[in-house]
Amino acid sequence: MKYISTRGLAPLAGFEEVLLTGLAPDGGLYVPRSWPKLTADDIAALRTRPYAEVAARIIAQFTGDAFNAAQLLEIARAVYGRFDHADVAPLIKAGAEDWILELFHGPTLAFKDFAMQFLGRLFDAVLERRGERLTIIAATSGDTGAAAIDALKACAHVDIVVLHPEGRVTDVQRRMMTCVDAANVQNIAVAGSFDDCQASVKELFADHGFVSKVRLGGVNSINWARIAAQTVYYFTAAVAISEAGEGVSFVVPTGNFGDVFSGYVAKKMGLNIDRLVVATNANDILHRAMTSGEYAPADVEPTISPSMDIQVASNFERLLFEVVGRDADVLRAKMSNFKRDGAMRLSAGEREAISADFLSYATSEDETMRELRRHFEATGALIDPHTAVARTAAQALRGAGVLSGKVVSLSTAHPAKFPDAVTQAAGTAPELPPALRDLFDRPESMTKIANDTDAIKQAILAGVKRKD
Ligand SMILES: *Cc1c(COP(=O)(O)O)cnc(C)c1O
Repeated sequence: MKYISTRGLAPLAGFEEVLLTGLAPDGGLYVPRSWPKLTADDIAALRTRPYAEVAARIIAQFTGDAFNAAQLLEIARAVYGRFDHADVAPLIKAGAEDWILELFHGPTLAFKDFAMQFLGRLFDAVLERRGERLTIIAATSGDTGAAAIDALKACAHVDIVVLHPEGRVTDVQRRMMTCVDAANVQNIAVAGSFDDCQASVKELFADHGFVSKVRLGGVNSINWARIAAQTVYYFTAAVAISEAGEGVSFVVPTGNFGDVFSGYVAKKMGLNIDRLVVATNANDILHRAMTSGEYAPADVEPTISPSMDIQVASNFERLLFEVVGRDADVLRAKMSNFKRDGAMRLSAGEREAISADFLSYATSEDETMRELRRHFEATGALIDPHTAVARTAAQALRGAGVLSGKVVSLSTAHPAKFPDAVTQAAGTAPELPPALRDLFDRPESMTKIANDTDAIKQAILAGVKRKD
């Protein structure tokens, strides 16, 4: 399995390199040179297997000769054995043809644990083999940071630095990052937005002086290994409910377009997925792009589903690469125009290609609150605001007649991660699972820094193991 860059100017890379570097050297994103394919029989055979086995089997399609089947199975069993539900990703029936896929049973209560826990083990195995050390720098709008820290805190060969926008993550999200006492973990609170944090991380990766001092790696959602690990639950969910092999649709609360792109990858691999619904909150750039063709970032609007408070959705580039027929020259021109103009127009043909696989819906804050309450009153169970965004989209699009058949809404976080919004909407406070009940008694550790890449750089250099 070899990887190419969406921008076409990077050498072919193997899985190890793609895993360790994240972004390709030409500024593009890595994608497989060709899509691995599973037959209908291969896919049907997954139905009765435990989650960890399916994970090892699917992820093996992407790892080439970097890991053998036994190593992947051992890693998958260790990773998914830490989840607090025997099914790992349980499906809850929510209506005649409606399901909710619970993806919050990992150690930090959000779907990002699925990929991040796997990534941590892959990193340590590869770095051990190579005798190398890596510094991971990640920007987070809340959940990535916690997931990355938990996944990497026990790694012998990795330092992890997480930038979060000060005051724009929930107390639970912040404490899940800052209450981790490990020498290889550094938390930085930036006086800015998530996009500012992400821009600083990009600048640091492009800073040759800095890169000569620390060996950088990325775990943000552009890392291909994360996309690969997230394809697994699309398979387990679809095979569990699709009786005659008919297509299943997925509604995905979307920020950086990573999770929903994983669904697209599963479809490319042969899984019978009907539609993938891009469900956004008020930060609806993707919904606007898909309905009007105008991909134009606006200011980030803080919402009660903060993990989707994103304007520039990094992984969208991977979809654009597909819709321009994998022509890297065309894509590179598009991206450089986007950088110059701060916006881009999708042609009618491109929009049509996207709408063959995707639908979109933007959920307002009011709708999110209403759905939280409605769901609680109807079922007695609490959902988190990101899940409520997806549930609103699922019902609205089914009501409008554009979404039909079996539909799975992804529940990407545990309600206790967003207690204020959930309590306000439903009138009941969500409880943290037992493993986290003492979270507010633990000491916090973080550095507050201005929205300034140079200052951030100095803080990082002071805190991590350097090459020299
Ligand atoms: C990260 C996150 C999302 C968005 O996922 P993307 O891959 O960025 O689209 C949705 N919900 C929750 C709870 C998240 O943490």
